[in-house]
Amino acid sequence: MGEAFRSGFIAITGRPNVGKSTLLNRLTGEKIAIVSSKPQTTRNRIQGVLTGDGFQAIFIDTPGIHEPKTKLGGFMVINAEGALGESDIIIFITEADIKNFEKDARIIARFKTPALGENPDGNKKTKSPPVFLVLNKIDKFSKPETLNVIEKYKNAFPFSEIIPLSALTGENADGLLAAIKHYLPEGPRYFPDDYITDRPEKFIISEIIREKALLYLQDEIPHGVAVEVEVKEKKGSSEVNATIFCEKDSHKGIIIGKNGALLKKIGQSARVEIENLLGNKIFLQTWVKVKKNWRDDDFMLRTLGYGKQG
Ligand code: GDP
Ligand code: MG
Repeated sequence: MGEAFRSGFIAITGRPNVGKSTLLNRLTGEKIAIVSSKPQTTRNRIQGVLTGDGFQAIFIDTPGIHEPKTKLGGFMVINAEGALGESDIIIFITEADIKNFEKDARIIARFKTPALGENPDGNKKTKSPPVFLVLNKIDKFSKPETLNVIEKYKNAFPFSEIIPLSALTGENADGLLAAIKHYLPEGPRYFPDDYITDRPEKFIISEIIREKALLYLQDEIPHGVAVEVEVKEKKGSSEVNATIFCEKDSHKGIIIGKNGALLKKIGQSARVEIENLLGNKIFLQTWVKVKKNWRDDDFMLRTLGYGKQG
């Protein structure tokens, strides 16, 4: 008999834009969480599952921790904090840049509060999960700088592991994996071996389209953009109808572009990526609709899947 099977839930947390989604994709080897150079693109808890030799790691990509300004912002924070309390390991990720230390202090303080061991339904956990510090983007920073950062963070909190890596290039990603395997508790195989995410295909498709919209749009629009999709399976192909919601008439014009050029560009690049992901031909139709203040509209939030996850 070999060693016992290990498994557990791992929350990936940190400020917006530090590379949480990139790390999740790197670890699970699939494009699940969307990546963008604009902060706060990940709105929901997205699970990626990695099953390896004798272990299964279930990742929760938490949105950046920030002060909520709208109802959508509120959901994001609740999701982020709930994930911390439920997890077996917390990966706190930041950039290997000394300038970030002050900005991270508020999150580090959360690791010290007993409330971290409390589930949303009030059950107290007896033990706080181990917290790993991941210093990301080492491809961008010098070694002495990284060592300097390690020294600073080490004095702020007793991290169980400190792991410098690059989620982008993959450098030392295996170091993180080894640490994860080491700290995972004994547990069941929660998901079948070939399982990658619990997100329905529909959600992944809408996230890819939203990612492309963010990529091509100007800065003032992205946070007001949501995508709803309808998927009809056909033999060997799928028909996808996507509606891009925005908040203003003027935004609608920008998203569509001159003679529909921008919408076409969004649709084309999304289609290629969705086809790669699904290994399936798709016919993608896109529409743009104005829905004022959807970010403060409970019904819209639920329709678009931003409410409480079941
Ligand atoms: P999140 O908001 O924390 O989920 O961050 P993302 O994963 O969306 O990444 C934000 C930006 O940082 C994207 O442009 C990524 O390509 C970039 N990024 C992520 N990891 C690395 C890294 O290791 N090195 C470099 N140079 N860029 C990275
Ligand atoms: Mg993200």
